[in-house]
Amino acid sequence: MSETTSTPQVGAAGMVSDRDPTDAPVMIHLDGVEKVYTPGAAPAVEKLTLDVHKGEILVLVGPSGCGKSTTLRLINRMIEPTAGRIIFDDEDVTDIDANELRRRIGYVIQRIGLFPHQTIAENIGTVPRLLGWDAERTRKRSDELLDLVGLEPGIYRDRYPKELSGGQAQRVGVARALAADPPVMLMDEPFGAVDPITRDRLQNEFLRLQAEVQKTIVFVTHDIDEAVKMGDRIAILRERSVVAQLDTPARILSYPVDDFVDDFIGSGSTLKGLHFERVSGLQIPEYPVVRRDTPREEAGRILDMSDFRWLLMLDERGRPARWLNETHLADTSRPLHEVGPVVRAMVERNATLHDALEAMITSSAGQAVIVHRDGTYVGVVQIELLTEVIGRMRREARKHYEELEATQAAEQRAAGA
Ligand code: ADP
Repeated sequence: MSETTSTPQVGAAGMVSDRDPTDAPVMIHLDGVEKVYTPGAAPAVEKLTLDVHKGEILVLVGPSGCGKSTTLRLINRMIEPTAGRIIFDDEDVTDIDANELRRRIGYVIQRIGLFPHQTIAENIGTVPRLLGWDAERTRKRSDELLDLVGLEPGIYRDRYPKELSGGQAQRVGVARALAADPPVMLMDEPFGAVDPITRDRLQNEFLRLQAEVQKTIVFVTHDIDEAVKMGDRIAILRERSVVAQLDTPARILSYPVDDFVDDFIGSGSTLKGLHFERVSGLQIPEYPVVRRDTPREEAGRILDMSDFRWLLMLDERGRPARWLNETHLADTSRPLHEVGPVVRAMVERNATLHDALEAMITSSAGQAVIVHRDGTYVGVVQIELLTEVIGRMRREARKHYEELEATQAAEQRAAGA
C-alpha cells in the first residue's frame, strides 16, 4: 500500500455520498410477481413487489438457488410470470411482445455468450441490426462502444471472440448490451467467470462507465462484497426471492435487520462500513504539533499542555516527519529531528475511513496523519474516533428503521380507520 491514498475505488455513485437513490422516479415496478416452474411445487419467486429507481444500480444478492436469476429473467420476460404485473417506465409490459421489451433492456450474463462466428463488431451490432439501423450507423456505434469499454476499435473490431481474454470478452458483452442505448441493463453475475484481479478491474471500469451512462441497472451476484461495492442499493434475498432487507450498503452493514442478513453479510461488516465515510467528514480535535526548529524545551511544554502522549514533528515544508514522546524529548544525545519513529500512516482528506484504518494497522500506529495532496499536514485521526463513527452509523441506521416502522404503523392505523 502506498503511504498516501488517492481517491479510493469506491462503489457506485452512492458509496460515500448522501444521495438517496430512491429520490429518482421509479423505472421498473414489480407488483406481486411470481414464478412457479412446476405446477404444484413451491414458487421460485413468491409474490415479489420491488421498485428499481432511474439511474440506480440495484443489486440482488442472496444464497445460490434463492431465485435471483429467475427474478432478473422475469423482468425482461425471458421467462413469463405466473402471477403479478411488470411496470416499465409507467407502462404495463406484462403482456406486450417480449421481443419488443427486450430491445429496451440490455442483458449481460457470465461468460456472455458472444456469437463465436461473428466478429466483435458484428456481435456488438446485434440489436442495432434487429432495429434496422444501416451498416454505417451500426459500425460507428460499435466503434464508439469499444472505445467506451476501453478496447481500441482498430485492434478489436474485426477479431473473433476466441481471440479475446476473459476480461476483454466481458467488456464486449457490456458493449453489446449498451449498443442500442437501452435505459435499463440487467446483469447476471457479469464478472463471475474471471479471475479476482480482472474482476476488480472490470468492476471499477463499469462503475466509471455507469457514472457516464447512468443506466438503471439490476445486478445479480451471490457475493456480498461485490454487492457492497457495486450497489447504490442492495436487496438481500432469502429463499423464493423474498426480500430480507433492501437498503443502501452502508445502512445494511450498520444495521442488519435480522439473523439471516447478519449471517449473510458475515463477519467484518462493521469494518466494511468504514468504506462509506471519508476522512474529510470527521471532526478532528487539534493535535500538538512542532516544527523541525522548535526548541526542545518548548516542545516539552507543548506536550505537557496537551491531552496526548505524542507530538507530531513537521519538516521544513510542513509535511509530517516524526512522532515524539517524552522519552524522545529526554534523549539529548541526538537532535530532535533524528529521534522518534518516522511517520508512516498518512492518508489524504478524500480517503475513506477504511483507508485510514488500513494505514494505522499497516504502520502499527493507533493514529494516522491526514495530509493535503501535496503532503502537507492537515490533522491527526485517532483510532478511537473510528470507533465513535461506527457507533454513530449504527445509531443513525437504527433510528432510520425505527422511523420507518413508526411511519408504517401510522399508515396501517390510518388505513384501518
Ligand atoms: P439463483 O439465481 O438465486 O441461484 P435461480 O433463480 O436460478 O436461483 O433458481 C431459483 C429456484 O428455481 C431454484 O430452486 C432452481 O432449482 C429453480 N429453477 C431455476 N430454473 C428452473 C427451471 N428452468 N425449471 C425448474 N426450476 C428451475
